[in-house]
Amino acid sequence: MTKPATFDVERIRQDFPILTQKIRGKDLVFLDSAASAQKPRVVIDAMVRAMETQYANIHRGLHWMSERTTEAYEEARDAAAALMNASGRSEIVFTHNSTEAINLMAHSYGRGVMKRGQAVVISGMEHHSNIVPWQLLRDSHGIELRVAPVTDAGELDMEAYEALFADGKVGLVAITHMSNVLGSVVPAERVVKIAHANGAKVMFDGSQAIVHRKVDVRALDCDFYAWTGHKLYGPTGIGVLWGRRELLERMPPFMGGGDMISSVTYEQSTWATVPHKFEAGTPAILEGIGLKAAIDYVQAIGFDAMAAHEAALTEHALARLGQIDGVHIVGRAQDRGGVISFTLDKAHSHDVATLLDRQGIAVRAGHHCAEPLMRRFNLDSTARASFGIYTTHAEIDALADGLIRVREFFT
Ligand SMILES: *Cc1c(COP(=O)(O)O)cnc(C)c1O
Repeated sequence: MTKPATFDVERIRQDFPILTQKIRGKDLVFLDSAASAQKPRVVIDAMVRAMETQYANIHRGLHWMSERTTEAYEEARDAAAALMNASGRSEIVFTHNSTEAINLMAHSYGRGVMKRGQAVVISGMEHHSNIVPWQLLRDSHGIELRVAPVTDAGELDMEAYEALFADGKVGLVAITHMSNVLGSVVPAERVVKIAHANGAKVMFDGSQAIVHRKVDVRALDCDFYAWTGHKLYGPTGIGVLWGRRELLERMPPFMGGGDMISSVTYEQSTWATVPHKFEAGTPAILEGIGLKAAIDYVQAIGFDAMAAHEAALTEHALARLGQIDGVHIVGRAQDRGGVISFTLDKAHSHDVATLLDRQGIAVRAGHHCAEPLMRRFNLDSTARASFGIYTTHAEIDALADGLIRVREFFT
């Protein structure tokens, strides 16, 4: 594929069959991509084609079909490695989603490498998936959990973050790269520099960030990076944990079973090399093939073009929503992506979402799997609009006009 000279959102929309649907007789305005993105035709086709022409279980098969399927699945690893500028496929562990990648980290790095009495640092704007696994680790393994606060603007408080390292106990920082609620992007290089200067490793939860900007794990100099396929226009059921090879090699397995072993006796088993050591059982083969198609798709469009489009959308949305009396945007980070949380005076965000839905506009409402962050801002929920490569300025105008109509119910 050649790169389009300019980013043409109307052409991109034609790649997404679902966007031609009418909802309640109106054009679908889909502003919930941060929860899960829609899928381009190439992803759908790649999965269907695999099922129709090239499908068998992978890795152990000696027959043609298994060999071809294994190749296709392993090519997905190469695509993921290239996407993140990882040094190779052996550093790409496939999981079922970000949540499993982070649980793998807590289980394997936390229980297997960290020592009792050490601490894990998270931030005050984590998704529950990057809170609860560390709580389980704390309770079972004597690891302390420390939370770096966020400012009123919704940015990581860097001074407070740095202060958490003073006693030298922090072994790992597990922190979001971009908030799924506020859209805030953390200063990742500084986060890593401070952690490394204090002898701690860093894992980013990149579930949101990887969708919106070029992620280069070597430039970030981080140690682990987790993300999920379905938010990057790929299928559900597949996620990635990237880790530095020497660290992955030090970590014990996460789950036991087929595929992750080198040999098995009743007395003792030995493990396969990385990344297979972490991948027990038949993996999400079709989803891997779909993910490769999704990665190829976004790479062909180019992250610079996507990021510029989303930055323009975000700026437009902040301006339009900011002009509506009674609408309050939560989080004002300087560096942010295409996710905007807001509240409407006198209205519960569930009612806002329901009334927008009647106009064919899909936004999410609730705590967005980030209850502690909601509490930090004295809220129990927000409405959230989030943008993808197929989002248009006209859809943002539809949201703003829709909100003005919704507001009439509450005045
Ligand atoms: C969506 C999301 C997750 C969880 O992703 P799953 O695919 O549900 O595992 C974790 N962290 C952040 C920041 C997210 O946005």
